[in-house]
Amino acid sequence: MELSSFSALSPKRPQFWQVAKRCCILAAIIDVAFFAIFMVLDSPILAWVNLLSIAMYLTAYVAYSTRKNKLATILIWTEVLYHSALGTLLLGWDSGFHYFLLMFVPAIFVSMSLKPAIASLVGLWSYYVGLDLFGWYYPPLQPIDGDALVLVHLFNLTVVFAMFAYLALYYLNKVNITHDKLRFFATTDPLTRLRNRRHMSELLKRAVESYQKEQRLVSVLLLDLDHFKSINDTYGHEVGDTVLKAAADILRDTVRDHDKVSRWGGEEFLVFLPRTNLNHAAQVAERIRKAIAKYPWHTVLNEKIRLTTSIGVSELKPDDSVNTLIKRADDALYRGKEAGRNWVELESEASCHRPRIVLSSQPD
Ligand code: GH3
Ligand code: MG
Ligand code: MG
Repeated sequence: MELSSFSALSPKRPQFWQVAKRCCILAAIIDVAFFAIFMVLDSPILAWVNLLSIAMYLTAYVAYSTRKNKLATILIWTEVLYHSALGTLLLGWDSGFHYFLLMFVPAIFVSMSLKPAIASLVGLWSYYVGLDLFGWYYPPLQPIDGDALVLVHLFNLTVVFAMFAYLALYYLNKVNITHDKLRFFATTDPLTRLRNRRHMSELLKRAVESYQKEQRLVSVLLLDLDHFKSINDTYGHEVGDTVLKAAADILRDTVRDHDKVSRWGGEEFLVFLPRTNLNHAAQVAERIRKAIAKYPWHTVLNEKIRLTTSIGVSELKPDDSVNTLIKRADDALYRGKEAGRNWVELESEASCHRPRIVLSSQPD
């Protein structure tokens, strides 16, 4: 994706506003702690200023909840800018109040589009450097004693570490969830929730590679629902979709746990049977053929539908590619259709050096 497309998406990211809302509550709690610390350290300006900060964070929280994101963002920026400046100017650079400004660096890029983000970054950098330079040339305006300064410094450092860790873990979690969703959509057929063709092709490719190394048995079944077009034509496309979903459920329920079912095309399914030779694959195919033919379709559709499937079966051979393996199953399927449908047909003698076996053609 181009940078400009990323930046166009940025301001709309709802996750960022959610995390910003949570940070408002965390920041208000931290300011309560600051209030107590500075009361104890007898630094009244820095103590009472926290009450203003708490009010600002709570207002920002309410603003986020009512989708006034701009107002909330202005409040947060104002709070962090004046609080870090006040702490740094009164207690000095070693107080560590400036660390809070660094938290804006990732937030800027997550919440804004690219140009305003760069402008904000330059502004933030100037502000940060300004405070730093002030510390080089002027002493703190209201210094506290050494031990107290160490305490404030460590407190600020710890809070900033904890907030960075929290934000990093939050985003890691979001990235993982998004990754899982993308993977699901990239590998799953939306109608039947079976693996899609691309995912099945990858599985087959890996199976062929491992077969060539370890000579593991693999068979495939290629299924095509018989006269499916007439279901669409008679009852409509939606009923056709319901039938496809139900057929997918039957397939899932009929195969073993380690077998893998995919939607290969419109009303075609490909089943991948690991550790299975041709004869066992034929038995699985026959089980599927019977399950579909005997299924009480009227219970799903309130219609008296009769649905059958034809199935071509092939077994992986040493010099096979994914294409040649599927081609033999497809040829067998074609012969099954020619033979009258509702049929299981094994790969042909010519290509696999086995006798052709027609398993079934009985109507159920
Ligand atoms: P055959 O026994 O020779 O396979 O006949 P058929 O009617 O099943 O085969 P044909 O290739 O003529 O028609 C397949 C039909 O499947 C046509 C198409 O509209 C339908 N189809 C493909 N994908 C979908 C889908 O996602 N939903 C629905 N409802 N129908 C689909
Ligand atoms: Mg078809
Ligand atoms: Mg068909």
